[in-house]
Parts: sequence; structure tokens; C-alpha cells
Amino acid sequence: MAEEGYPVLAGRVQQAFDYLEETGTLQASQVIHEEARQVDSSLLNRVHTERHIAGVGRTSYDFASRLSAGAAVRAGEAVWTGEAANAFVFTGCAGHHASRDSAWGFCYYNNTALLVRHLQKAHGVERFFVVDTDPHTGDGTRDTLGEDLGVYHLNFYAAFGEGEEPESTRQVDVPFPSNCGDASFVEALRRLATPLAKESRAQMILWNMGHDAHAIDYGGFQLSLHAFPEMTKLLLALAEEVCQGRFIVLLSGGSEEYVARHTISSIIRHLAGLSPLPADTGEEPAPDTPETERTARKLVEKIITELGFDTEE
Ligand SMILES: [Zn+2]
Repeated sequence: MAEEGYPVLAGRVQQAFDYLEETGTLQASQVIHEEARQVDSSLLNRVHTERHIAGVGRTSYDFASRLSAGAAVRAGEAVWTGEAANAFVFTGCAGHHASRDSAWGFCYYNNTALLVRHLQKAHGVERFFVVDTDPHTGDGTRDTLGEDLGVYHLNFYAAFGEGEEPESTRQVDVPFPSNCGDASFVEALRRLATPLAKESRAQMILWNMGHDAHAIDYGGFQLSLHAFPEMTKLLLALAEEVCQGRFIVLLSGGSEEYVARHTISSIIRHLAGLSPLPADTGEEPAPDTPETERTARKLVEKIITELGFDTEE
């Protein structure tokens, strides 16, 4: 993936992986490292059109895309069957902008949708909660899974706090103000993901994690390294509450090697129950101002009210 992935995303893969090795994370007895294999073509056909698959086949990212999708599907299998308690999926091409018949933004195949379709067919898994905190909207995930009544999709993206009203609790878009600090962001995630995870009665929680949400990376958010282990803690705790801890993190956008190293390390170490490395949060938290805090709170309360949940939570 580091060699053949999309150039913007690929450079970070080896860096992040090497750092896991240097810090002893990969060698820890709680961590299983598995090489990805290419996704089955028959599974691709169940998510994407022939025309789209043929089009991707003519790009130089076909192999890395198939490998990324295969990694996601294998993670789903390992976590569902209990071979692994949870999983982190490295990708060379991301997935959340890949629709049935089109794709953009370094994405070709929808890794999340392929994982879901595999578990539905192979194991009869019916209910999933997909959380997307990449600052770019998960349009491909909505396109490929939106009609599926068993899939809840909470979709954060960088905007100005203005957006359309949510259609249902199954499909919640959060046009989150891009200048907010860590605390506002994590609090918004907590207040929205908690009731949705419970209502969804998900059997697995999937997190599309883009570290382009970090202030120095290319996405629209201004988060610091501190936000990523906090989000991991929160979502893993929710998974423990609703689905015996079945939780998978799928690597999405982000190109900064420094950010990749520390966010991926802090996430994997938390998933594995390893002690955090101080270097992984060795920067100042991203602050809120009274105004960003207020804008974020107002947005979250508006969405919660529209969805009919209790705003007191
Ligand atoms: Zn992104």
C-alpha cells in the first residue's frame, strides 16, 4: 500500500507502520499483524457496477484499492468470528468517497460497504453503526449503504454548522464548524454517537478515521493529536456497551507523516490495551473559544432535537 497506494495517502503508511515497530507496539503480545490480501472480485460486484470496476481496473490504483478493500473485509471477518477483539485497517486508497458507480478523492472501492456486504452474506450480520469523522463527507458510504435499513451512518464533515435537517436517525449528517477545538469535537461525537449506537443495536461499530482532521493535515478540521485517542476511547466504550466491543477502525484521509505516526499509534495502543506513549500526544490540545464552543453545542442540540432524542444526555 505504501508503494502502490494513492500518492497523497501512501507516503504515511510506511512511516506509521515503521513507528509501530520502533515503539514495540507491533511486537506486543496483544497485537496481531496480518498482511492484507486482495478482495474477492465477486464481492466487488455486489457493491460496485461492472462499469466502475472496469474503470478502476484501468487506473494504476487497482491493486492498492483491492488490497485496501481486502484488508477491511478480513478485519470484519476476524472481529466477527472472535479471532481479534477489534481491528485497525491500514489502507493505501481510502473508501468513503467510492459510490456504486463512481468515486473521487483518493477512493476507488468502498472498503466499509464491502466489509458490511461480506458479513451480511457470510455470517448473517444485520446491524452496523458506521461513524465517519473524516472532514470530508462520506458520500460514497451513503450511496452504497444508504438504502440498507440495518446500517446507521453518523457522518461528520467540515462546514459551518449549517446543513440540511437529518432525514432519519439512520442517516445523520453533522456539518461541524471547522474551527472548533478538541473538546467541542469529542463532546459532539459523544452526544450524537451515544444515542445512535444504542438505537441502532449495532452488532459492530465501524469508524472511518481520517487524520486529515488534524490541524496541520489537509482536511478542514483543526484537531490536535489529543482528539484521536479520546475518540477511540469513546467509540470503543460504546462498542463494549452495544456489541461486545466489536469495533473496527478504517484508515481514511490524511497525508502528514507526523500526524499519521502518532494518531495511528495512539489508536492501536488504545485498542490493544497498551499504555499510551507520551510522544503520541506531545503537543498542545486544540483550544475552543467561547464562540466555537457555543456554535458546536447549538448544532448538536439542534440535531438531537430534530432526531427526537433527549437533549439532557
Ligand atoms: Zn478526508
